[in-house]
Amino acid sequence: MVTYESVIGLEVHAQLDTETKIFCGCSTRFGAPPNQNTCPVCLGLPGALPVLNKKVVELALRASLAVGCRIPPVSVFARKNYFYPDLPKGYQISQYDQPLAVDGSLKIMIHESPREIRIRRIHMEEDAGKLLHEGVEQQSEASFVDLNRAGVPLIEIVSEPDIRSSEEAYLYLKELKAILQTCGVSEANMEEGNLRCDANISIRQNGASELGTRVEIKNLNSFKNVSRALDHEFERQRGILQSGGEIIQETRLYNADLDRTDSMRSKEEAQDYRYFPDPDLLPLKIEAEILERVRQSLPELPEAKRHRFQMEYGLSKMEAGVLTEDEALAEFFEQTAHLSREPKQTVNWILRDLLEKLKETSGSIRQSPVTPAHVAGLIHLTQENKISSTQAKEVFHEMWSTAKMPEVIVSEKGLSQVSDLDSVNRFIDQVFAGNPDLVARFRNGETKLQGVLVGLVMKASSGKANPAVVNKLLKDRTG
Ligand code: ADP
Ligand code: MG
Ligand code: ZN
Repeated sequence: MVTYESVIGLEVHAQLDTETKIFCGCSTRFGAPPNQNTCPVCLGLPGALPVLNKKVVELALRASLAVGCRIPPVSVFARKNYFYPDLPKGYQISQYDQPLAVDGSLKIMIHESPREIRIRRIHMEEDAGKLLHEGVEQQSEASFVDLNRAGVPLIEIVSEPDIRSSEEAYLYLKELKAILQTCGVSEANMEEGNLRCDANISIRQNGASELGTRVEIKNLNSFKNVSRALDHEFERQRGILQSGGEIIQETRLYNADLDRTDSMRSKEEAQDYRYFPDPDLLPLKIEAEILERVRQSLPELPEAKRHRFQMEYGLSKMEAGVLTEDEALAEFFEQTAHLSREPKQTVNWILRDLLEKLKETSGSIRQSPVTPAHVAGLIHLTQENKISSTQAKEVFHEMWSTAKMPEVIVSEKGLSQVSDLDSVNRFIDQVFAGNPDLVARFRNGETKLQGVLVGLVMKASSGKANPAVVNKLLKDRTG
């Protein structure tokens, strides 16, 4: 039987984390009233001239260098012409045949072995505005245009068709996100819309070397959906080929609710953007010193960090992998490990309890009420046997809901006392073994001896046993 493999190339748009837009001084802040963050430049009024934001270039260079791209000495801004109501100028300023960066790559680990996904190019461009089709259900005739996003800086990162499965696509996106966040380039959050991805996929018989006809899938709004859409599209294309049909090159939209793709436009309907260099912007020359300065300023990248975590803290590949997926999580781990001096315990608390809480509340580590000082304090308490592991769980729970420090919780709840039944029973056993006469009289009904026995148990536990628990257990034993 003939088997097929996927050939996938991803086009990722990331919003650069700048205060102002790419060609004007307007704010990029999210959530302003419609059309407030606008000016003649981003409104496309005649005569207004774009001025390139230096910070945009710096961030784009950071991303490019972080994935090992080569930076040609000159890149050129070009106009991509098309009509749409969210594009007041009638063209988008982008880069075309002379992009900022070319020939990079990104490494992913798939089933324990490394795979290199080549990156074809990275270029800068401006975002378009947003259309609000309010009241579509009410049959309203009106749509609204909000140009706050028009001119927000983006980079587009285009991979070579080197990705071979939906799983690899998922890993590529996760790694790319981690790199962009680590370098302070982008918040890179797909759910928040500052990372967007179009996926190109063709299929071919296993072992074949030529590429099949590709389909581009749009409207993907989470990593999970990218992966699901690719699986779905693989099956669709395979069905067509197996029944002797032919794939047509087209753009399809993913419908997450129905988990299917629908044709949007075919190659014949594809528009010609009539790209040409933007005469309002000079070719961009990147000087060697600037490049060197940016290169020097790059932080430790996720891959290097993963390696270091394994060497320095003795973590497993898996542990190091999960911790470095999110820069803030890695930072949290390192701070806690330094405070607690117990990297293994630290990783356990983070991967088990903290991540579980974050998942429950779908919150980010940045908003966690539990800080590294909390976790380190908790570890100290368990190391010093001040609290049992069951109690530690309880304290963690309480830290999460109250943000109180563990010592405070322990004293408020009287947890430093030994309350768990097994431990208290062990103290009682000790006392019983050492005082057979007393015990015999107690068992024969001299209930006033209860107080004496409680005293002995308290003494045996150096005062830590919870008296209420001791009393109850003693009663149980005579009962
Ligand atoms: P366009 O110019 O239409 O955007 P490109 O050739 O630049 O097309 O490719 C866009 C994306 O599609 C790239 O990520 C590339 O890797 C991917 N791609 C190109 N050809 C194929 C193919 N046959 N199968 C899968 N992906 C492909
Ligand atoms: Mg493209
Ligand atoms: Zn503006």
